[in-house]
Amino acid sequence: MIRIDIISVLPQLIESPFNASIIKRAIEKKIVEINFHDLKNYASKKRKQVDDYQFGGGSGMVMMIEPIKKCIDKLKKQRHYSEVIYMTPDAPILNQKLANKLSLVGNIIILCGHYKGVDQRVRDKLITMEISIGDYVLSGGELPAAVLCDSIIRLIPGVLGDETSALTDSFQDEILAPPVYTRPANFENIQVPNILLSGDKAKIENWREKKALERTKKIRPNFLRD
Ligand code: SAH
Repeated sequence: MIRIDIISVLPQLIESPFNASIIKRAIEKKIVEINFHDLKNYASKKRKQVDDYQFGGGSGMVMMIEPIKKCIDKLKKQRHYSEVIYMTPDAPILNQKLANKLSLVGNIIILCGHYKGVDQRVRDKLITMEISIGDYVLSGGELPAAVLCDSIIRLIPGVLGDETSALTDSFQDEILAPPVYTRPANFENIQVPNILLSGDKAKIENWREKKALERTKKIRPNFLRD
């Protein structure tokens, strides 16, 4: 079983994506265990805070190193973690290759930032990997952490059944997925491509490959160049 520990100042922001569908089933099947840690519980009794003004001046609060270190140390004493990940926009961007890799590594800690982000010393000393979910800035790392977890969990062997097979999804072979259709075959005179109704498996496979390639050329030509 893989264990994911998510550290956040607003854990309630992230709990609901784990209570439905594929992730919920993976948790019920005991393939993955997810734990949320409220950073406020690690604030020192004296100061009772998890953030403070930045040295040198400037707007926005910065998350302090002490509570984060306390929480990470406590977790690390209990078990081994393969990665301690910080979600941050100024990092390499998540892709399917990285999700595949992380679905195989073992236990993970994910730190969600807030406000201006975390004290740089957290990133220098406590974090082993930084991941962004795209070139835009969100207000907290909770949604990015949920995105990362979803992308990883659905790839862990045993999570997806045949009906949701990950192998035919976009990006698995550096190619986008072909279009898909379901009943009715004719909706207000818009027809499903005939070939999909032909029952000819080889022809259907060829058609899907052709369409996937067309889509990739149009939308992500960079995949075909390297
Ligand atoms: N001041 C920072 C942004 C802080 S946003 C900067 O300019 O780079 C607050 C928090 O939201 C971050 O600490 C991070 O955990 C999270 N976050 C925002 N956008 C993100 C993104 N694109 N990917 C991953 N995490 C993100």
